[in-house]
Amino acid sequence: GSTWANVPQGPPDAILGITEAFKADSFAEKINLGVGAYRDDKGKPYVLPSVRSAEDKIVASRLDKEYAAITGVANFTSKAAELAYGADSAALKDGRVAITQSVSGTGALRIGGAFLERFYPHAKKIYLPTPTWANHNAVFSDSGLEVAKYRYYNKDTIGLDFEGLVEDLKAAPSNSIILLHACAHNPTGVDPTAEQWRQISDVVKEKGHFAFFDMAYQGFASGDADKDAFAPRYFVEQGHNIALCQSFAKNMGLYGERAGAFSLVCASAEEKKRVDSQIKILIRPLYSNPPVHGARIASTILNDPELKKQWLGEVKGMADRIIEMRSLLKQNLEALGSKHDWSHITNQIGMFAYTGLSPEQMDVLAKEHSVYATKDGRISVAGITSGNVKRLAESIYKVTG
Ligand code: PMP
Repeated sequence: GSTWANVPQGPPDAILGITEAFKADSFAEKINLGVGAYRDDKGKPYVLPSVRSAEDKIVASRLDKEYAAITGVANFTSKAAELAYGADSAALKDGRVAITQSVSGTGALRIGGAFLERFYPHAKKIYLPTPTWANHNAVFSDSGLEVAKYRYYNKDTIGLDFEGLVEDLKAAPSNSIILLHACAHNPTGVDPTAEQWRQISDVVKEKGHFAFFDMAYQGFASGDADKDAFAPRYFVEQGHNIALCQSFAKNMGLYGERAGAFSLVCASAEEKKRVDSQIKILIRPLYSNPPVHGARIASTILNDPELKKQWLGEVKGMADRIIEMRSLLKQNLEALGSKHDWSHITNQIGMFAYTGLSPEQMDVLAKEHSVYATKDGRISVAGITSGNVKRLAESIYKVTG
């Protein structure tokens, strides 16, 4: 028989299924709230003007196509680290942050998973929030880590289950690896407050846990890149030697360019040197060295004060549009006379909102109202526009009564 006769059919990707159903729908006013990418107020993909300018500069400078180093474009990673940890970060000044370019946020998570699998001196088990980005599970288990859960979301309040979270972090064995979304938690849009972060930091410290941050939305949540980096910066100030994954997919709109970074805060510059050497040994057989174009774009922006300022304004523009769509959706639902409390729509932050709608209600939304999103009730706020928000609210109102 054929060599691959025993390869079983895998399940389709949940998001792809939504896109297909959306495409097949012939209704002119159909709405796609499944996509995890920013759209402008016309529902169109958005290339940031700062990115266009950076690209023009790169093309004009006729750079060669030589390989980057194993850890990528150095003037990209140095600025990525500054953006994440802060220009005045003591850890950066001490020269004890090991950083490598990665194939966007997913690649950063995978390098981190592989590094922990190889060198973490305690149980190789990572605790993920429930729920979390669907890919976390696969990334970490394919890296060879065991995957466990801690409580995060409270479906009754459509908010944070802070007590459950703290209880679970306390109940986990000492020295556990804890994955934390730095901001704009995907899929719930529910983030801890600054005070809650301080308490989480205390518990993580008491238990000797290892904090592994995934920061895929810096600047995209509040519109302020420093504010969005509060949690990882606070942890580092408190003496946690964290791991950090960065993505420039959302905040620079570089989705397909795959620009990201993975970093580890080390105890000393000497330790950082050893960690650096092992990160290189780990990456070399994976992909040798990363693609350069996206990193050059990000680097051009981050190294040019004028362009950086422009970019920060554009990130804020995207975040503000999302925040505005949240409040328009809530206002429209209230204007229709909905008796439900929709305050979670505006309390949540980032690209996604957890509506609290059931899988059955999501089905009716798709079949009867041509509004497409995942069954868990998550909607991409980036898919809402001033042109479709009224019809969206009417559809949700009809489905929720
Ligand atoms: N982490 C989270 C929480 C995400 O939502 C995403 C993007 N959907 C990523 C990581 C990684 O995305 P990318 O690989 O495109 O940077």
